Amino acid sequence: MKFLIDINVGKLARWLRMMGYDAALFNEQDDNDMVKQAMAEDRILLTRDTQIVRRRVAISGRLRLVLLRDDEPEKQLQQVIKELGLKQHLNPFTRCLECNHPLEPRSKDEVKSHVPPYVFKTQEQYMQCPSCGRIYWRGTHWQAMSRLLDKLRNEDP
Ligand SMILES: [Zn+2]
Repeated sequence: MKFLIDINVGKLARWLRMMGYDAALFNEQDDNDMVKQAMAEDRILLTRDTQIVRRRVAISGRLRLVLLRDDEPEKQLQQVIKELGLKQHLNPFTRCLECNHPLEPRSKDEVKSHVPPYVFKTQEQYMQCPSCGRIYWRGTHWQAMSRLLDKLRNEDP
């Protein structure tokens, strides 16, 4: 399952990447291009744009999309998880949170000069984005996302 994220719900991109999903962000202007890209790359479009739902490609089901009802990113994520039946477990360190590129494992030695000393001392596993060079480990992002998913799970009736 792959996603195209409209910029009006842009926060979802990082969260879905954190869950391990391929979530591309569409940050250009033209809705036609957005619809075309979603269909060409077989991505589910996430948007708040009620106009897009009325398009023929959406009505016919050729364009798969989720129209997000809420303003609040947490509720949006909850809606996506529910409607698409996403697994609520984390699959972190598979996608770059910034550019959606798949991450590659790095040894401790390889990252030594690129991470803060306290991280190097306490963390064993590292991943790097070959596209932007960012290095990932189980830090604050991971903890925050874990807590959020726990919270959403508990709110589920
Ligand atoms: Zn990256």
